[in-house]
Amino acid sequence: MALPSRTIEELRAPAERMRVVAEIAARHSAEVDREGRFPREAIDALKAERLMAVMIPKRFGGEGLSLLEVAELCTILGQACGSTAMVYAMHQIKASSLVSHGGESQWHAGFMREMVAEQHLLASATTEGGIGGDLRNSICAVDVKDGRFTLEKDATVISYGLYADAILVTCRRAPEAQSSDQSMVVVRRGDYTLAKTTGWDTLGMRGTCSEGFRLVSSGDAAQIFPQPFSEIAAQSMLSTSHILWGAVWFGIAADAVARAQAYVRAAARKQPGSVPPGALRLAEVVAMLQDMKASVVAGVVRYEAALDRPDELSSIGFAVEMNNLKVTTSQRGAQIVTHAMLITGLSGYKNDTPFSVGRHLRDITSAAIMISNDRILSNTSNLLLVSRFDTSLVN
Ligand SMILES: Cc1cc2nc3c(=O)[nH]c(=O)nc-3n(C[C@H](O)[C@H](O)[C@H](O)COP(=O)(O)OP(=O)(O)OC[C@H]3O[C@@H](n4cnc5c(N)ncnc54)[C@H](O)[C@@H]3O)c2cc1C
Repeated sequence: MALPSRTIEELRAPAERMRVVAEIAARHSAEVDREGRFPREAIDALKAERLMAVMIPKRFGGEGLSLLEVAELCTILGQACGSTAMVYAMHQIKASSLVSHGGESQWHAGFMREMVAEQHLLASATTEGGIGGDLRNSICAVDVKDGRFTLEKDATVISYGLYADAILVTCRRAPEAQSSDQSMVVVRRGDYTLAKTTGWDTLGMRGTCSEGFRLVSSGDAAQIFPQPFSEIAAQSMLSTSHILWGAVWFGIAADAVARAQAYVRAAARKQPGSVPPGALRLAEVVAMLQDMKASVVAGVVRYEAALDRPDELSSIGFAVEMNNLKVTTSQRGAQIVTHAMLITGLSGYKNDTPFSVGRHLRDITSAAIMISNDRILSNTSNLLLVSRFDTSLVN
């Protein structure tokens, strides 16, 4: 697809551009969900609106948007189509690793410029056969010889793997390295082959097309991030994942509540002078939504305050807060959408009414297992054995 070339000054505000995309995503959301197909129209629109590289710093040609601004874009899209928004969020999480850790590496800086020019879509291959969702261990290893690398991975989940322009792959640093001594490598389309190993016929998030593949890749050793993956995970990837996922889930929950409100208001119009039975639950669910929003915003504020302090980003207290953000927003989102369904009743349960929340309900169930909450809580419980949690209101 030929992309219009525009300078930053010629572009409209990012949120305005995202609303154009959201309208397209909403139009195709039911079909994307039903057929479990890639949201091609919305992703093409994201590229046409030049929203893929918005987080890339201005010195590399991007718009240098903050994480809060990108989170808001994820929320706008999440209100239209959960799958499309999750694709966008996962892409931005990968972009954030380049922004935080690629600036000093000539290859990665060049790749960021390429991302801006080509509006690349980035995917992620962390999950691995035999390891599951344990991000901080790998079985596969990158092998470097004469300035070139080879890397093979049994990647059991790569969302939109077939549609990505590049994949960021975690692996052991070398064939002799320990499982937790990891690197991350950028492999571009053309550097790799994907042989499909598993399908993606799921309850929700069907449009993410998160199939499993045997990934076989090779390339220039410079494509390996210079920093160990432990640093990348602690200092950017975990926080940006939990914040941007939370922003998507908030978008899904907000749209379900908007539908519940429309339902209650329609009921009120039918019987002027009386308060519909769902009104009380609506008040309750709006309070829950506000609580969820506060958690996501507090997470971003906490992250941005720690950004220039690597010791703070790697601290136990920070890790506990980011873990908690993921667990609480995933749980809150599911509670909110369930509430919205109770308010809308059969009209919400049906798939063909303006008040339907079935897709929202199915999409939001993925939140608890997208890196299992149990795995995260177990990690937090270990951290709490060796540290005090923060009891201040402002830190
Ligand atoms: C919509 C969606 C998109 C995704 N996209 C990608 C992607 O693009 N790339 C990618 O790499 N991955 C992706 N994933 C995978 C995701 O990141 C996790 O790896 C995956 O959800 C974990 O799957 P699992 O439950 O099989 O594995 P595990 O995390 O291994 O968990 C298996 C079971 O063991 C339990 N368990 C595991 N460890 C513990 C523990 N320490 N304490 C208590 N219980 C534990 C869990 O509760 C769970 O029931 C995606 C997942 C989803 C839902």
